[in-house]
Amino acid sequence: MMKYVYQFSEGNKEMRNTLGGKGANLAEMTSLGLPVPQGFTVSTEACTRYYDDGRKISEDIEKEIMENIEKMEKVTGMKFGDVENPLLVSVRSGARASMPGMMDTILNLGLNEEVVETLAKKSGNPRWAWDCYRRFIQMYSDVVMEVGKKYFEQLIDEMKEKKGVTQDVELTADDLKELANQFKAEYKSKIGDDFPTDPKEQLMGAIKAVFRSWDNPRANVYRRDNDIPYSWGTAVNVQMMAFGNMGDTSGTGVAFTRNPATGEKKLFGEFLMNAQGEDVVAGVRTPQPIDQLKEVMPEVYDQFVEICHKLENHYRDMQDMEFTIQDKKLYMLQTRNGKRTAAAALKIACDLVDEGMISDKEAVAMIDPRNLDSLLHPQFDAAAIKKAEPIGKALAASPGAACGKVVFTAEDAKEWASRGDKVILVRLETSPEDIEGMKAAQGILTVRGGMTSHAAVVARGMGTCCVSGCSAINMDEDNKKFELAGKTFHEGDVISIDGSTGNIYDGAIPTVDASIGGEFGRIMDWADKYRTLQVRTNADTPDDAKRARALGAEGIGLCRTEHMFFESDRIAAIREMICSDTVEQREKALAKLEPMQQGDFEALYEAMEGDGVNIRFLDPPLHEFVPTEEKDIEQLAKTQGKTVDEIKAIIAGLHEFNPMMGHRGCRLAVTYPEIAAMQTRAVIKAAINVSKKHPDWNIVPEIMIPLVGEVKELAFVKKTVVETADAEIKAAGSNLKYKVGTMIEIPRAALTADEIAKEAEFFSFGTNDLTQMTFGFSRDDAGKFLDSYYDNKIYENDPFAKIDQVGVGKLVKMACDLGKQTRPDIKLGICGEHGGDPSTVEFCHNVGLTYVSCSPFRVPIARLAAAQAKIKADK
Ligand code: ADP
Ligand code: MG
Ligand code: MG
Repeated sequence: MMKYVYQFSEGNKEMRNTLGGKGANLAEMTSLGLPVPQGFTVSTEACTRYYDDGRKISEDIEKEIMENIEKMEKVTGMKFGDVENPLLVSVRSGARASMPGMMDTILNLGLNEEVVETLAKKSGNPRWAWDCYRRFIQMYSDVVMEVGKKYFEQLIDEMKEKKGVTQDVELTADDLKELANQFKAEYKSKIGDDFPTDPKEQLMGAIKAVFRSWDNPRANVYRRDNDIPYSWGTAVNVQMMAFGNMGDTSGTGVAFTRNPATGEKKLFGEFLMNAQGEDVVAGVRTPQPIDQLKEVMPEVYDQFVEICHKLENHYRDMQDMEFTIQDKKLYMLQTRNGKRTAAAALKIACDLVDEGMISDKEAVAMIDPRNLDSLLHPQFDAAAIKKAEPIGKALAASPGAACGKVVFTAEDAKEWASRGDKVILVRLETSPEDIEGMKAAQGILTVRGGMTSHAAVVARGMGTCCVSGCSAINMDEDNKKFELAGKTFHEGDVISIDGSTGNIYDGAIPTVDASIGGEFGRIMDWADKYRTLQVRTNADTPDDAKRARALGAEGIGLCRTEHMFFESDRIAAIREMICSDTVEQREKALAKLEPMQQGDFEALYEAMEGDGVNIRFLDPPLHEFVPTEEKDIEQLAKTQGKTVDEIKAIIAGLHEFNPMMGHRGCRLAVTYPEIAAMQTRAVIKAAINVSKKHPDWNIVPEIMIPLVGEVKELAFVKKTVVETADAEIKAAGSNLKYKVGTMIEIPRAALTADEIAKEAEFFSFGTNDLTQMTFGFSRDDAGKFLDSYYDNKIYENDPFAKIDQVGVGKLVKMACDLGKQTRPDIKLGICGEHGGDPSTVEFCHNVGLTYVSCSPFRVPIARLAAAQAKIKADK
């Protein structure tokens, strides 16, 4: 029979898949002999069963759970539901990958009126007993019955007002008792039933709620952003309570063994005396820095520091821990490899190598490539920031610089951003409901909350700049305005925030690009040592090419030549070509473009210093180049010596019902070979010129024919290319080599890749078009319906962001295999947007591509991901 429930003493850290991260680490800490409250884990397989069984916990699993409660009772000598000596537990979720704040926890479960009355009397601490009870009702109602936190918070606020106090801790036992009764009444009015008194019913309800929460919208969004499959499920941990709310000798806290924002090797964290659970991060009171625990409770502090060392050495990584002190006794409630900013990740990895704790290979493997993105984002211009006068300062919660228009709700952030506005989300504090808005914002500014508040943790995870806890702000969320430094800010006003200093500025401050050096450089060097997959860049301009080169690009994987045609001095010549009636006229127009195009290519070869440059010939449908404005049409008519009506007729003639599948790509070169001939001359002449200047570079231009679906169309275009190129080379007396290849972006090309490889010297997978043609929907329109596909679990990811390995991947793999059959040394690359996505990079490594190509800023990410793919494959 399948085992679904494990005592902490039965597990270990390798059992993540079954026990989830939290459960596996609780088990590991238990076996290390650390003070962990007793408990057990209901496995992720039980979660899967719950869904398979139609959202029910089967009888056999329920029985196993209750047997494990009995085991706990034996060890602790307490009893579930007992009035004299009650066992109270927490019910906590924990998936394989940590999903902070995604699933909700219930504390103090097992209480009812009778138990709490006795506990209040017997303990001599009625305030504690009633505090536990009111918290339990609150959390259970919210998490299990989805009543909504706000009703309870409102009651607490009313009670505080009535009593003339400002903080929860100032409420007395009687106040809390009255609150508990109000809460139960609230529960009854919302649910219709009495609050459950049977601990077993409470327990099963709570476990079910955790399983159910795996499928809540927040969790689904988080999973999609973090590549966590829905099929994994979550485990549930049931653990005896440690009480941090027993009075002034109790407390609770969170800490990191190193600073998660900077990586500095120094204990970092916060604690609150007489508090429980999320109080520290929820911002109900301002927590104290962990150092102060040394004064408050020296022995506990020393013990905690020792445990920190032990855990860090054991996991060989920075740990993020939760602890509770119950009447001077320390309990460990969680440890995990801590989330950190990209800068901290790099520093910690390098430090751990220098400390001899890990190898450089392990350092490469431990950094999340997606995280690097934030380091590659702009920072404030140093001169401008020096001159700027901050209007406020708060916690530097997540580094980076952001400038944008103020918005006050997550919905507004999402909406404004979708319209192309850059926004700063300003909130009292954030909660998991705000995730999508936080993602859409350039930066986040909160009025409340510390370094471990929701806003801070989530922003660091996303690499978004965040300044938190700015209590100087006088907030009026309802009317969408706030006051700071004597000025009122309304929705749409521009502010700038610096997540590295915590400074807030009025107005816009210019930003500059980041550069890689120091620790970043060290990690990149190590990555380069291990990876075999090359990394190129998609670049159409010398500036992009230079930037990518500085970030480590080993060539250009895709230069989209049409991007060079939109500049004002060129668009006229292109239009002239489009409006030509004869080949001669067209050639005359193209001749104007040729020197400009040649100049572009020369600059690209220069930037790449002899490395491969892959140039794709004209790809988009011609209608993209024609004017739409009346005055531009008139102008064109004049220069072409045609009437306006004639020009309009030409434009109308370019209309297509489905331009993405229309007259574009190599089809243009089939109709107008003179376009391909002009581009070939520009490519070849540029290469000859730059080779003359740099005889030590071995420039081998790669000419890429797009949108091929049939070998004969490639052969047709290639003939023009080869004849033109060879004539140029001969005329110049050069011995320049060049390659002609194709993009594989039409399913038919993948299916007939063995044929295509007879003509193509290289393939580059254009996975944007290949995805859209394989799925049969366009990436410009998919946004309209993909949400319903996510909601219904039909697709878990956007196939344009992360390659669909099952379908599109199968075509890629097939094309690689077929291509190699015909031409064993064929060069294989990828140049879609996917090229910079780490999971796609891993896929590309595994199917044996020569290189991936991605936008300049993603080059370091791809380098790291390529190294990780190799390290993983070698294992
Ligand atoms: P999350 O994954 O959101 O951090 P947790 O399950 O870790 O959720 O718990 C939420 C809060 O409750 C944390 O502050 C945690 O330390 C506290 N907590 C959980 N279980 C217990 C327990 N058995 N005793 C005391 N506090 C607990
Ligand atoms: Mg936790
Ligand atoms: Mg394409």
